[in-house]
Amino acid sequence: MDSERIYIFDTTLRDGEQSPGISLNAFEKVEIAEQLARLGVDVIEAGFPVSSPGDFEGVRKIADSVSGVTVCALARAIENDVRTAWDAIKGAERPRIHTFISTSDVHLEHQLRKSREEVLEIARRMVALAVSLCEDVEFSAMDATRSDPEFLATVLQAAVDEGAATINIPDTVGYAIPREFGIFVADQFQRAPGLRDVTVSVHCHNDLGLAVANSLAAVEAGATQVECAVNGLGERAGNASLEEMVMILETRHATLGKVTGIETTEIDRTSRLVSQLTGYEVQPNKAVVGKNAFAHESGIHQDGVLKERTTYEIMNARSIGRSQSDIVLGKHSGRHALKTAMEELGFSLNEAELNQAFENFKKIADKKKQITAVDLEHLVSEELRELTDIYELKSYEVTSSSEFTPTSQVIIEKEGEQLVGKSFSGGSMEAIFKAIDDAVGAKGKLLDYQVRAVTAGKDALGEVRVVVEVEGEGYAGTALSIDVVEASAKAYMRAMNNAYRAGVVMNGSKK
Ligand SMILES: [Zn+2]
Repeated sequence: MDSERIYIFDTTLRDGEQSPGISLNAFEKVEIAEQLARLGVDVIEAGFPVSSPGDFEGVRKIADSVSGVTVCALARAIENDVRTAWDAIKGAERPRIHTFISTSDVHLEHQLRKSREEVLEIARRMVALAVSLCEDVEFSAMDATRSDPEFLATVLQAAVDEGAATINIPDTVGYAIPREFGIFVADQFQRAPGLRDVTVSVHCHNDLGLAVANSLAAVEAGATQVECAVNGLGERAGNASLEEMVMILETRHATLGKVTGIETTEIDRTSRLVSQLTGYEVQPNKAVVGKNAFAHESGIHQDGVLKERTTYEIMNARSIGRSQSDIVLGKHSGRHALKTAMEELGFSLNEAELNQAFENFKKIADKKKQITAVDLEHLVSEELRELTDIYELKSYEVTSSSEFTPTSQVIIEKEGEQLVGKSFSGGSMEAIFKAIDDAVGAKGKLLDYQVRAVTAGKDALGEVRVVVEVEGEGYAGTALSIDVVEASAKAYMRAMNNAYRAGVVMNGSKK
């Protein structure tokens, strides 16, 4: 029997990006999208273009630059949404419009305030409009699991009739349980025969911890596309976790008979990149990508695994790309070694980028004996993030002692112009942050501050993540350095750059 192909639709950049505190800039979104393409997902849902100019820009950049994958944009079943989504993705190699409307009575009555007839009519018109713009259209019936099955089937059949090639049955509120959801999906195939001619998709939320289990039940009932997110990110408790879904199909292939297009050895790296750019850490005991997912602590297990790996291991860490023998570079490694290591990690740097990366590499290698693959990944994404920053922290100075109030001075450059900021404040970090505020002429309020070590050891790179409130909005910034004070200053500067990009007026603004 041939294995059936299951399509992986990744919504990390849309549903995942809606998680509180995540604010990726367009450049970071492209970086994640490129890694998703390397991972081999079939569809990248890049965003919801009508929701903000920033989202539109992020989707457009991904559509224009990422190849080998379908790039999808979300749109409510509203004409302006659909047209805006199309404007954002029309440059893609394979564009897809994903439009949705609620079908449950509770949503119709309280949110949409529309009758079933009206909803059916809107779904028809908007799918038809999307199909007139874009060959590949997906339709979702929001809150499908709480909808009347007969009405849901009528709407889904109508969407198929209007030309939607993918029909999504979401468990929007995370209410379903696996056996029931499997039966529900199978029943829709009976009621809406057109579903047999299209791709049937599911989108499950994890409110009860069942997103992956429900998705699997749907796959066994005939669904061939699963919507999921890296590290299970997403609204509330998140979406079905991509890595878990894929590794279930992979590990239990003999029983399930399904295959995906995922290059599983890219899973670990994708998980790390998403965690690093979103600031959402992965819990250590998380299935597949948690730091302890392959660590055996019990003596009996260790003994067994040493004698024969399969005694206690159902998956190999290498299959998700986690290798024991990390690439290690040191202080004496040259440009060529760095270039080769970067290529092995999937980064193709041009001459200028390589020069810059090498310069940074040398700075770190001076202080840190061994540079691992994880360090290098951070180094590159750090470098790439800096390219988009308008304000650059040139230097900082802080004096603190147990006797005096700390003082700080920073020099920031913006398009060749130097801005100097000074402060006299409560703590030494606070003094630097206030000096940056002074230089850029904006007032930031620190909402969140986290430090973590990227790799083990006393000389580990420290990563600082801040969320700064400016004019009522929160902006995140992440930065990396051997020195935590420097990483903090840079992270704060980066959050301020994000605020500037979002339209906050600052010193040196041309407006
Ligand atoms: Zn969702």
